[in-house]
Amino acid sequence: LNLENITPEEQQELERNVLLTTLEQIKGWARSNSLWPLTFGLACCAIEMMGTGGSHYDFDRFGVIFRASPRQSDVMMVAGTVTKKMAPLVRRLYDQMAEPKWVIAIGACATAGGPYVNSYSVVKGVDQIVPVDVYIPGCPPSPVAIIYGVNKLQEKIMYEAKTGKKVPTSNE
Ligand code: SF4
Repeated sequence: LNLENITPEEQQELERNVLLTTLEQIKGWARSNSLWPLTFGLACCAIEMMGTGGSHYDFDRFGVIFRASPRQSDVMMVAGTVTKKMAPLVRRLYDQMAEPKWVIAIGACATAGGPYVNSYSVVKGVDQIVPVDVYIPGCPPSPVAIIYGVNKLQEKIMYEAKTGKKVPTSNE
């Protein structure tokens, strides 16, 4: 078939029946629609995260399935207050996750220390320990906000797959 000499009807037929894409885009599509977050509830925000996983908000419809092991996870959702005592463990779990991996900071505490910003024992944002891709504000954020944050991460993964450009994380 000579593609230079096809009629408009043939071109329409081709567009209907042929899908052109790249392996990177297929990988991006698959990854963004099967995010497996490491359950990481540290304080009250975790209740909202658990609520998002329940039947009412139904996280599963986005392909989001919580895992209890860093070896099976590609997203770390940090929901709650990160204490200085907990910080090395957060980093260790992050290091145990395979690439590619992403981090979502859920709520004011994980984003910047929240109400405990002046406490001697609290880390002022989980981005001081691991690179963060998406911040979800709120104290606590609602399940709808958490779903929106996850959708933003999905968009980011697809954008990177389509353009080949890296969207910077918090420490880049
Ligand atoms: Fe609790 Fe508010 Fe901190 Fe979330 S941001 S862990 S709701 S104090």
